[in-house]
Formats: sequence, C-alpha cells, structure tokens
Amino acid sequence: MKALLLKDTHQFELIDMPVPEPGEGQALVRVLTTCICGSEVHGYHGKHFGRKAPAVMGHEVSGVVEKLGAGASSPAPGTRVAVMPQTSCGVCEWCRQGSPNLCPQRYMLGFTKWPGSFEEYFVIPATMLYPIADYVPDQVGALMEPLSVGLHAVRRAKIKQGDSVLVFGSGAIGIMTMLGAREMGAEVVIATDLYDFNLKAAKAVAATHTHNARSGSAAECALELTNGRGVDHVFLAADAPGMLEQAVAATRIHGNIIVIAMYDKSVPVPLQTLKTKEQCLLGSVTFDATDFTRSVELAHKHYAVLNQLVTHTFTLEQAEEAFQVVDKHSEDQVRVAFKVSE
Ligand SMILES: [Zn+2]
Ligand SMILES: [Zn+2]
Repeated sequence: MKALLLKDTHQFELIDMPVPEPGEGQALVRVLTTCICGSEVHGYHGKHFGRKAPAVMGHEVSGVVEKLGAGASSPAPGTRVAVMPQTSCGVCEWCRQGSPNLCPQRYMLGFTKWPGSFEEYFVIPATMLYPIADYVPDQVGALMEPLSVGLHAVRRAKIKQGDSVLVFGSGAIGIMTMLGAREMGAEVVIATDLYDFNLKAAKAVAATHTHNARSGSAAECALELTNGRGVDHVFLAADAPGMLEQAVAATRIHGNIIVIAMYDKSVPVPLQTLKTKEQCLLGSVTFDATDFTRSVELAHKHYAVLNQLVTHTFTLEQAEEAFQVVDKHSEDQVRVAFKVSE
C-alpha cells in the first residue's frame, strides 16, 4: 500500500508498505478522506512533540472497516466510520477522572509511534470507530475530529444560553468552536480572521458577526457589540501578535479566555488587567469520548454546511503541494484534504 512518510523536516516520500494486520481488538481501516491539521504543519516544520520524522501523520479521517482482529466484533467490515484518534493509558489519575486528553501518556493516530491516516490502510482499536450515516459525505466524516476539539473548548468555557463569544481565527478549529458555542446557546458569535474568505465560511456555519483583523481591533468591535461590557468568552484559535492584550480587553469582568491553538513561543499576558477584571484564562486540549460522541451527532445534523469547509482535495502524490497551500495560505482555504480512496 501507499504511505506518505514524513522522512525528515520538510521532506515527504511516498513509500510502499505492507498492509498492516489488525491485532487483538483492532480493526483495519481503509482511508477514504483525511484532512491536514495545523498540528501536522507543526510536524512538517519539525516543531511537534509527537509528530517527529520519520512518521506517517494523519488523524482527521473517515474510512471503511476492512477487517477485524481477534476479539473485535463491531463495526462490521464494510461499515463507513469516523475515527476517534486519541489513546491514553487508562489508569492514571487523569484517565480515571474522565480526562484522557490530559494523560501524560496520551498519543494520537499519526504520532511517530502509531502510523496515521496519510496512507491507504491503518490499524486502530475497533472501539475508537464511530459509524456514519450514508448521507454524510466522506470529508464530513474526516471533520468530526476538529469538531470535537471545538466542542471540548466550549465545554471548558461552560457557555450558557444568551452568551456572547469572540473567536480569534476562522480556520477549521475556530469555526468548529463557533458552531459548538451556537449549539450551547451563544447568541452573539463574533468571528475574526485576516481573510474575508474564512469570515464568509464562519458566517455560513455559525458566526453572527465578522471582523477582519486588518480593519482594526477585534476588541473594539467586541466592546461595541456588547455596549462596552465585553463578551463572556474569548477563544484563541489562532496565533497573532497582540492577541492576548486584545482578548483581555474584549472579555467582560469574570469572563473566560480559552486557549485552543498551538504556540511555539511564549506569549505575553497582560496580567494586571486580567487580575483587575477577575478573568479566567483556561487551556483546552483535544477532546474526550463525550466530545467525540457529541461531534458525530452534530456533524450528522450540520453535514451540509460542514461539507463546504473542505475547500481543497489532493492525492497523496500531491502532498508537497497540499502542505504548501496550508502552510503558506497561498489560496483561500479552510480545510485541505487528501482523497485516498473511494
Ligand atoms: Zn486535528
Ligand atoms: Zn492516563
């Protein structure tokens, strides 16, 4: 089978590998569609702790169950599935309290030690597969993972009916966060981004207002829309200079700032203002099974709008080009995918 190997930093090679055999409790999955996540661009640049070359990356994926290993009884071969791509030790303090995403031994499909979905077939515990309905397109199946990341972030924020939200970044994760916020009852959802294309996509899925960051301060826009009070929650789904200053200014007294994106460098925080407004700065890491289950449900409900978020599809042979499009933002895009099989 074909596998896209990240051989070294900025270096892909399409190699030939034997199709893996599913072990005890595992399933062999044939890849349909798999998306390129921002974390994989970090891996491509040699800046991700778990995606270090040599590795076959890929974790946002839909596929078909080809074969079950001993002891696995479902989903039946032939079932089309979304994939919950995260595993943890199951016995540590954090796993036991239902937060496998915080397990020190957590890892994802597509980390160096677990070949991911940028190839034709991969193996995974069968319990991590979620059947999807016929009417849901393959590429929406591959978006259930980023949607679960957004849903986890809105759960961390404990959004209530009528809340207002500002989201920095209208890439896939930002838009998924907006959708989750709307589902939890947020009434004002302000999307920011540098690209009008992404703002349009955000509006089509979930945003009530949009703000192009090139046209001035997002904080001012948020304060204006909330009569100077500030929004209840600000989500950071981007890495832009001065973002924390704006987030603290845009958030109300006792409001939340939730950090979702990946940061290579430390970012200054205006602690004095944050303290004076008694704001809460929260981290949000990936998702757990509750988020993923909810994500599968919501993706079925919103499949038509979500389908529009996959703006480019490439073959594995075109990996270099596909990664350039994501990394350089050389074309309007939300999620870029590989179509691996039909
Ligand atoms: Zn991802
Ligand atoms: Zn654990």
